[in-house]
Amino acid sequence: TAPAPSYPMDAPASQALFERAQQVIPGGVNSPVRAFRAVGGTPRFVASAQGPWLTDADGRRYVDLICSWGPMILGHAHPDVLAAVTDAATRGFSFGTPSENEVALAEEIVSRVDPVEEVRLVNSGTEATMTAIRLARGATNRSVVVKFAGCYHGHVDALLAAAGSGIATFGLPDSAGVPASAAAETIVLPYNDVAALEAAFAARGDEIACVITEASPGNMGVVPPLPGFTEALRRVTRAHGALLISDEVMTGFRCSRSGWYGLEGPYDGGAPDLFTFGKVMGGGFPAAAFGGRRDLMALLSPTGPVYQAGTLSGNPVATAAGLATLRGCTDEVYARLDVVSQAIAGGASDALAAAGVPHRVQWAGSMFSVFFRDAPVTSYDDAKAQDTEAFRAFFHAMLSRGVHLPPSAYEAWFVSASHDDAAVEHVLAALPEAARAAAA
Ligand code: PLP
Repeated sequence: TAPAPSYPMDAPASQALFERAQQVIPGGVNSPVRAFRAVGGTPRFVASAQGPWLTDADGRRYVDLICSWGPMILGHAHPDVLAAVTDAATRGFSFGTPSENEVALAEEIVSRVDPVEEVRLVNSGTEATMTAIRLARGATNRSVVVKFAGCYHGHVDALLAAAGSGIATFGLPDSAGVPASAAAETIVLPYNDVAALEAAFAARGDEIACVITEASPGNMGVVPPLPGFTEALRRVTRAHGALLISDEVMTGFRCSRSGWYGLEGPYDGGAPDLFTFGKVMGGGFPAAAFGGRRDLMALLSPTGPVYQAGTLSGNPVATAAGLATLRGCTDEVYARLDVVSQAIAGGASDALAAAGVPHRVQWAGSMFSVFFRDAPVTSYDDAKAQDTEAFRAFFHAMLSRGVHLPPSAYEAWFVSASHDDAAVEHVLAALPEAARAAAA
C-alpha cells in the first residue's frame, strides 16, 4: 500500500472559519457532534465533496467515513442524484401543493418495507419520531413512552430523557429546557433487557402508548438487538395494547434495501406498527418519513384527529434526491458496501490488534463501529466502558493521514458504494500508525 499523507495538526483555514463561526453560531456549529468536543481540536470546514472524498478549506483531502452520518450511501455528488436534483431545481424549488415526486418516493418506500402501507414525508428524522409518538399517543389515548438508554431518536423533548438509577426509572431531562413533565412521561430502559421491559409493563402497562427503539441501534456505536429481543418488544407491547415504533432513520435502506427489517423481519408475532425513516431516503437533502399500517396512518390530519404539517414537507428537490438515491441502491451497491466495510473494519481490527489496543467491531448488516474495549457491547453501559482517550489519539492520527472518522467513539463509521479501491487502500495505509498512536 502507498504511504499515507501526513497533514500538520493545525488547519489554518478551518481555524479561521471556526473562529468566525463562533462569533455568530453557538459553539461554531449547527449540530453539536461537529464541534470535535469529544476529540478536541478544530473541526475541518469542508469546501467540497466528491465520491468518497472530502476537501477541506485548506485544500486537504480526506477519505470520508462519516458520509453525512449516513445519507451519502452512493457517495458525494453522485452523477445520477446530481442530475435529478438539477432537473428538479430547474422546475422550481417548493410549491406548497402536492407534486408527483412525493408520490413516487412514498411508493418507493412502501414497496420496500412490507409492513409500511402508507408514509407521510417530513423534513428530518426528529420530526418523524416526534410525530410517530404523537400518533401512537393519539391512537392509544395513553401518554407514556418507553425508550432505551443509548438509543437516539432526534431532539424531541420526550425522547431527550436519560435513565436515573434502577431498572425501570422515570426519565429525567437530559437537556436543559426539557420540562420534567415531558421526561416524566418517558420510561428509559436498558437495551436488550427483556426482564426490565416486562417489569416496566407489569407496573405501568395500561399507561404506555408505545415503545420506540432504534431498529438496530447505531447511536451508541453499533449494538444490534440480541436474538429474540425485537420479538419480545412485539410480544409485550401487543399484550398490553401499546404500539411498537421501529426507528430506521439510520438503518433504513442502508442495512439492506429494506433496512434492518429486511435483515431481521418478518418477525414471529408480527411487525412493528410504525416505522421512521430519514438519512438515505433524502439523499443528502432534508427529507424523512414515518409510516406504517393504514388504519393508524388514517388517524393523521387531514383524515384523522392527529395534527401534523410542514411548509417544506415533500419538497420537490429533496424528494428528487431521495428517489434517485433509493433507485441507485442496487444489489451491486449493497454488495460494494459489504466489501468496503469488511475491508475497512478488518483493517482497523488487524491494526489495533497488532498494536495491542483492546477493541471490538460490531455489525448491523454492513453498518459497523469499532469499540475501544474488547468485551461484547449489548447496552449503553457496556458502550460507556470504552477507552475514549485511545479513540481520541486514533481519531487525530487518522485525520492527519487524510481519513475523516466520526469525531466520537460512540458513532458508526459510514461508508459508501463510491469508496473505491484507492479510497480503501488509503484508509488501510493510515491505520497501522493510528493504531500505534492509540496504544501510546
Ligand atoms: N433517529 C435515529 C436513529 C437517528 O440516528 C437520528 C439522527 O442521527 C434521528 C432519529 C434524528 O434525525 P435528524 O438528525 O434528521 O433529526
